[in-house]
Amino acid sequence: MDDDLDILFDTHAIQDRIRELGAQISRDYAGKELIAVCVLKGAAIFASDLVRSITRPVAMDFVHAASYGDARTSSGMVTLKQDLSSDIRGKHVLIVDGIADSGRTLAFLLERFWKREPASIRTAVLLDKAVRRAVPVHIDYRGFDVPDRFVVGYGMDTGEHYRNLPYVAAVKDAAAT
Ligand code: 5GP
Ligand code: MG
Repeated sequence: MDDDLDILFDTHAIQDRIRELGAQISRDYAGKELIAVCVLKGAAIFASDLVRSITRPVAMDFVHAASYGDARTSSGMVTLKQDLSSDIRGKHVLIVDGIADSGRTLAFLLERFWKREPASIRTAVLLDKAVRRAVPVHIDYRGFDVPDRFVVGYGMDTGEHYRNLPYVAAVKDAAAT
């Protein structure tokens, strides 16, 4: 284990929580056709676990969102590097992201997707850093609340590092790296 990291949520806790979210989503979408939209890259690991914990048919699609600024804070400028590959008109869409911070990424996607006239849109995030919210955004399914610290692991990176950690950790001295 890396000395520079404080583990916040270990593999077991994450798996348990994702199983609960999957059960809840399975109940909520009974009889509905669901499409899970994974927000690359950070949500890749969470989304792959989450869809496997949903006990009903679920389609998957992917968008690649990026926000520019320095590595540790989002600038507020969200761009879409890759759009959906399918038409979501009339579909029940679940946007799956790794972390909600300022909320700008989710707000951007919600605004964009609503224009395509889906039947519904809900949001799921593994981590919610609600204290940092700059734009109000409704989170329907949240794994864990996180404090205002820079976190890595389970898909979340710093400079493409640490995405593959099987746990979520806070970087001890975020300012120093
Ligand atoms: P937003 O500010 O739009 O809610 O989140 C934008 C993006 O900032 C997230 O998708 C994520 O890539 C990144 N981000 C925000 N907080 C953290 C964090 O604590 N750790 C990591 N690795 N990325 C973060
Ligand atoms: Mg990043």
